[in-house]
Amino acid sequence: MIPVVDGHNDALLRAWRSGESLRERSSNGHLDLPRMRDGGVVAGFFAIFVPATDDEPSDPRAPLVLTHDGYEVPMEGALPFERADRIARELAAIAERDLRIVTRADDVLGGNAILHLEGAEPIAPDLSNLCEWFERGLRSVGLVWSRPNAFGHGVPFRYPGSPDTGPGLTDAGRALVRAANELGLVLDLAHLNERGFFEVAAASTAPLVVSHAGAHELCRIPRNLTDDQLDTVRDSDGVVGVVFDTVMTREDGELVLETPLQTIAEHIEYIADRIGIDHVALGSDFDGSFPPHALDDVSKTQALLETLAWSDDELAKLAHGNWLRVLRATWKT
Ligand code: ZN
Repeated sequence: MIPVVDGHNDALLRAWRSGESLRERSSNGHLDLPRMRDGGVVAGFFAIFVPATDDEPSDPRAPLVLTHDGYEVPMEGALPFERADRIARELAAIAERDLRIVTRADDVLGGNAILHLEGAEPIAPDLSNLCEWFERGLRSVGLVWSRPNAFGHGVPFRYPGSPDTGPGLTDAGRALVRAANELGLVLDLAHLNERGFFEVAAASTAPLVVSHAGAHELCRIPRNLTDDQLDTVRDSDGVVGVVFDTVMTREDGELVLETPLQTIAEHIEYIADRIGIDHVALGSDFDGSFPPHALDDVSKTQALLETLAWSDDELAKLAHGNWLRVLRATWKT
């Protein structure tokens, strides 16, 4: 098995909702430590994501509104800081209880969790608690999820659509980019709109990271990266983790669980062809998306690698080497 470092999962949110331990094998959801071991996934970015409501929606794609040529999910409003702060601490406590959190690149292949914020809402807009989160082991921050916040603007769930959806970073967002660079935190541009993306690209001194996305050229949803964005990631010596979500990879943007692995592999091949094998990695979004049956839990991860006619060296870059290079260049410890 080729050791895999995975760019994004939402298993902490599932554990928070279900009360399960990530140390135990579960028959629910997509990811826990025993199933990671089965799939050769040695480490991953574990997202602290704060949902707008406590309960899991019965239909996760509701309320989905059909448009003349696709669909749209009405955008959530900004999250109150008090809720974000409280729930993020609860998710971090689950990570500390169940996972081995790593903060040094040399420890990644022997640990299992990189602590990541998906949406910076738990960071106070004046950044007064950023150091506290860093000391707690946080090493990666996504500025936004698909909603506006104090730092910037996320793209909506919509198909088809462009990531060019309005204003860029706020002053607090620009300050967060500077502070993240100084601390040596990964800045994740997943879900950031196009203007915000290019503002971070111009300001940040670290390699650009998009933890879970696909190629917009193959699936025209705003969460995927245009060719210009891909080229900009390459120019920063950064990396894109290819998402396993059917909705974000299929040309028609539909949720079809029978989607073949080849559809995900096409995004990997497209990005590798466009910007080079050094800039493409994996970013499953397990427990946060709709992967196809053939990849519907982390134990099946190697099956995706087996669809690629790549050399062992190339597969090693895709599976873990590119993430490790970017972490070594970004983290200061
Ligand atoms: Zn996400």
